[in-house]
Amino acid sequence: MDFLGAEYGPAQWHVRYSPVEELVYTILSQHTSDLNSERAFNSLMGTFDSIDAVADAPVEAIEEAIRRGGLAKQKAPRIKSVLCQIRDELGSFDLSFLAEMPLDEAKAWLKRLNGIGPKTAAIILCFSLGMPAMPVDTHIFRVSKRLGLIGAKVNADKAHDILEPMVEPQDVFAFHMYLIQHGRQVCKAQRPRCGECALGWGCRERPKLEREAKRAARKRKSGNKIG
Ligand code: SF4
Repeated sequence: MDFLGAEYGPAQWHVRYSPVEELVYTILSQHTSDLNSERAFNSLMGTFDSIDAVADAPVEAIEEAIRRGGLAKQKAPRIKSVLCQIRDELGSFDLSFLAEMPLDEAKAWLKRLNGIGPKTAAIILCFSLGMPAMPVDTHIFRVSKRLGLIGAKVNADKAHDILEPMVEPQDVFAFHMYLIQHGRQVCKAQRPRCGECALGWGCRERPKLEREAKRAARKRKSGNKIG
């Protein structure tokens, strides 16, 4: 945290959406870019006046409203189904009661809902309710694995349970933001920039990745010569 904090500065937590809006946003963000998810979310909320209206809308109308976000056919029924489930159970979309529950119970409550896994549950609890739940996205999963924070065979769902208790509760949000930033800028999926990495001194995968990079560079060089 100290090394990443020095690199990326303080991570500021602020509420972006209400918990139920965050849930909808997270479904929209699956397998698409931030830009597309935002466009789809804005289009959805611009088409319907409220979350209530989204839940009442025909699936086809939701699909049309979120088309620009991609995978609308899969996401529209998922959104409608989970919203109806919440309203049937609570009589509203107010999920603020989760903040009063112990973290594990709040997670369990959300994970019972149709199509809500550990990542979506953690995003809702962390981003909109400020609870110390750790969402593990593709960047966090990759960087943690390379660093050796999680084992090579651990899957993404299990990674939530391993990483979260490793970090002080007050640092969970910052850890999430730092590792995403680090994964996007330095520890990229292809060609990680290990030589510039603030965590390179303690990284499990660095020697192997650097050997592979050197081998690839030699191959390119000899290919160029032959060419
Ligand atoms: S040293 Fe390389 S592999 Fe390890 S965290 Fe840094 S960029 Fe990623």
